[in-house]
Amino acid sequence: MKSARTCIAAAAWVFSMSVVGPAQAAAADMAASLPPLTKPDPTIQAALTRISPDNIQADIAKLVSFGTRSTLSSMDTDLPAGQGINAAADWIESAFKAISAQCGGCLEVKRDTFEEPGSTARGARIARPTKLTNVYAILHGAEKTAPWVLVTGHYDSRATDVMDSHAGSPGANDDASGVAVSLESARALSSMKLPGTIVFVAVAGEEQGLNGSKHLAHIAKEEGWPLEAVLNNDIVGGDTTPGDTLQDKSAVRVFSESVPSSATPEEQKQYLALGAENDSPSRQLARTIAELAPMYFKPTEQHPPPATPGMMRSHLVRLIPAFHPVLILRRDRYLRGGDHTSFNGEGFAAVRFTEWRENFDHQHQTLRTENGTEYGDLLKFVDFSYVANVARMNSATLATLASAPGEPQHVQVLTRALDNNTELTWEASAFAPRGTMYEVVWREPTETLWTHGRSAGAALSLKLNVSKDNVLFGVRAVDPAGHFSPAVAPVPAR
Ligand SMILES: [Zn+2]
Repeated sequence: MKSARTCIAAAAWVFSMSVVGPAQAAAADMAASLPPLTKPDPTIQAALTRISPDNIQADIAKLVSFGTRSTLSSMDTDLPAGQGINAAADWIESAFKAISAQCGGCLEVKRDTFEEPGSTARGARIARPTKLTNVYAILHGAEKTAPWVLVTGHYDSRATDVMDSHAGSPGANDDASGVAVSLESARALSSMKLPGTIVFVAVAGEEQGLNGSKHLAHIAKEEGWPLEAVLNNDIVGGDTTPGDTLQDKSAVRVFSESVPSSATPEEQKQYLALGAENDSPSRQLARTIAELAPMYFKPTEQHPPPATPGMMRSHLVRLIPAFHPVLILRRDRYLRGGDHTSFNGEGFAAVRFTEWRENFDHQHQTLRTENGTEYGDLLKFVDFSYVANVARMNSATLATLASAPGEPQHVQVLTRALDNNTELTWEASAFAPRGTMYEVVWREPTETLWTHGRSAGAALSLKLNVSKDNVLFGVRAVDPAGHFSPAVAPVPAR
């Protein structure tokens, strides 16, 4: 069944390129496969091979060496020299500056320092006025109108008692691993000349209540950063515990929210009416990551290259080991939150990367051994090769989106009359250079990834003989080299 559909679909894509009559066109619409417009970019492939587990190990070991990176330690005056979160912030800034020195000053390195007032209310995690510092580096793109993308991890850590600013809290996995992804992505991508802008971030205050990311997301909103994607890496160390047979080193989870937390009541109603809860901007971003991964990673045994035409790219050469994202269609894990939520709250598409299986003995734990169990977030439990794969997946996404045209704007599905067809219209983004084309993609509502697609060429509309009631549509922009934007779901218009 599946293979028959594949053959028909592959033929239909070729078919749809030629001049056909209405009946033939209808047949082609029904079966149109995802066109093989997308292909890996050799310069991105080369960047991914520069990502080094050794660099990542050195970054995480350095972050662990600060003893504690409790956000509250910024106000302590009794810590030994070189210990605490202030020393960690200084080092991260110096690391970004060292990367910048290697690319002729390509990075604008910044500190976002502010004070949280503190509260003695029950449950408050900052009791007195406390200084927080986010550190970030901007790789400015060549084109002013091109989209921005951002990668972040949190450099603060904690012990069992989140208010203890002195206890040893190495935070190797949570979340020196995520900071290492930001740093190593900056090393890998800083020599590239891309149209779009990439922001590499390390925030503080995550463990106290997402304070650092809230502050930075607010700045991004206030200053009008045209962020198309935020990638939050938190606990991406690939925990290695002797005797654990359930960890999967070939998988990383990608969490994304459904109805945007920033949606107005009117927008929420529309999501409900359309059944579009699986097509929010954050879900489209997660879907983009899942589509990019097979281009740059070898398929795994459990995840062979899909036989569907949507993944006709499986013949492509892959230089990188087996690794794949698993889309988890929820905002975050039970009882947990993360910095992507701060960006979601300001209306940005943002997802969270987290290792396949967490070991809670190695998170948020004061260092100790009890009944033969070793507690604590120690360096020895981190798999640096795993973190490198996460960094490669992040870098592939960042570089692709910073190369692609911007997302189509005002994507609409026309609903003037009751019929079994679909007419979509859209507008070009501010960044739609010569050669930009558009792809209409669709899937049945029970599918997670796009299964069908049709190129509209450079046109800003497309009619299809496919019922809008039966499938979910998206429109994305593609450049001649195959870099594509996230898809945008249409809203109804009469
Ligand atoms: Zn964390």
